[in-house]
Amino acid sequence: MDNCIFCRIINRELPSTIVYENDKVLAFKDINPVVAFHVLIVPKKHIASIKDINEDNGSILTDVHIAANRIAEENGISDKGYRLINNCGAGAGQTVFHLHYHMLSGDELGEKLL
Ligand code: 5GP
Ligand code: ZN
Repeated sequence: MDNCIFCRIINRELPSTIVYENDKVLAFKDINPVVAFHVLIVPKKHIASIKDINEDNGSILTDVHIAANRIAEENGISDKGYRLINNCGAGAGQTVFHLHYHMLSGDELGEKLL
């Protein structure tokens, strides 16, 4: 989608600090991190929200979670632990309408949500 900020990051029209990429998934550092490790994991295909997942496109969630496992291993947080957060809809705090998981890890994590 032309006016989607994450599609523009995926298409390299906007800069980002990429931490992981494969043919279906991109992960990059959040521009406004709330903990030491704050990465956004997104499908390359534009899907607005998790509520738009269905039988036809749902396999992307497996791809996203496998990517999360790789990212955790590569960044040494697999054993320490991390939190995956998805905000669905404005009322839940979603501000970018391209499906994404926040991946959070760090000593200050506590009960932090977004
Ligand atoms: P949401 O509030 O939709 O769950 O999360 C959107 C996240 O995207 C926020 O944590 C925000 O900091 C991040 N974000 C918004 N614009 C950009 C950007 O241009 N680049 C990066 N790397 N992150 C962004
Ligand atoms: Zn998009």
